[in-house]
Amino acid sequence: MGSKFSGKNPPELLVDQFSRTISYLRLSITDRCNLRCIYCQPKKIEETVPHWKSVEILQHRDLLTYEELLHFASVAVSMGMDKIRLTGGEPLVRRGILNFIRSLNNLEGLKQIRLTTNGVLLPELAEPLFQAGIRHLNISLDTLKPEKFARITGRDLFHTVWQGIQIAKNLGFQVKLNVVAMRGINDDEFRDFAHLALQEPLQVRFIEFMPVGEQAGWDKKDFISASEIQSLIMQEGTLTPQKGQRSEGPARVFSLTDREGRQGSVGFISPISHHFCDSCNRLRLTSEGRLRSCLLSDQETDIREILRSGGTDDDLRSAIRLTIMTKKKGHAMQEGPDSIAQAPCHGRMSRIGG
Ligand code: SAM
Repeated sequence: MGSKFSGKNPPELLVDQFSRTISYLRLSITDRCNLRCIYCQPKKIEETVPHWKSVEILQHRDLLTYEELLHFASVAVSMGMDKIRLTGGEPLVRRGILNFIRSLNNLEGLKQIRLTTNGVLLPELAEPLFQAGIRHLNISLDTLKPEKFARITGRDLFHTVWQGIQIAKNLGFQVKLNVVAMRGINDDEFRDFAHLALQEPLQVRFIEFMPVGEQAGWDKKDFISASEIQSLIMQEGTLTPQKGQRSEGPARVFSLTDREGRQGSVGFISPISHHFCDSCNRLRLTSEGRLRSCLLSDQETDIREILRSGGTDDDLRSAIRLTIMTKKKGHAMQEGPDSIAQAPCHGRMSRIGG
């Protein structure tokens, strides 16, 4: 591969025009998923199950191979990107992921590999993932009610995911639950999620619903701001900001303490109402090999073309630098939900990775 750094040449610091150091790479390793969440796949809630099979997916030849992903990652890491998150689609449905993780683990300079998953395959894969070196899991769970889970995701698998969460926790993973906040769908459960954070050793993070993908069914009336969610959570206890949360990325993280003195950890991710572009340190590689500097912007660099046309590591490095140098100061929805006339990005979330 010729791109691992030897330790003799320290990696360059990847700094963009707005003095942000870019060190975090998100890889969408597949656009395939074993769920059909209403906000991710382009269908409305009532239509989810009947349209199960109608979702368009990439051809296998269009996905980057593991060799290509590893090649790109090794170049990015050699340039100073030291944290990688695997996402999708559902990363655990891609065969060979454990070997891929082991190969990533051999990249000198890579400090962390994390994974975002819907948890469906955790009952069988949590242990091998732990053995492969993963220690941090973000697990998506938008409801604690099995029936609602089936309506949101199109599959009756709440208990499987719940079992996966328990197994992951017991194995010693650091678990964060991602809850996409949707008015009229799960806003009646935010306080239950706060209770969960008080009872279990996991962090609950509420994510503002984003308009990603032109048919994804986002509507302003479904949107709930992080501050509104925060006020609901404050009915359960006191929120105290946790300091030194750099590794938490965009989440604002709080300790929640209830009247009985129980403590939990709760985070709020507010890309719309309180954007965090100033501290954004990430690049995303889509499952078809396009490098994006922002989830909410369609500007992309075609890495697959470079990899498949005999491009060199220097070509890849130039493409990474170009993507970083053209990273915009902020995304298109800086003015909050009222400023959103249409989705600012047209790629599907499952290709881009959430
Ligand atoms: N399949 C994995 C999962 O479910 O976690 C990884 C991919 S999923 C696209 C990554 C994250 O994006 C999930 O936490 C999901 O809830 C979130 N997500 C997807 N669409 C979203 C949207 N429109 N607004 C906010 N979050 C979204």
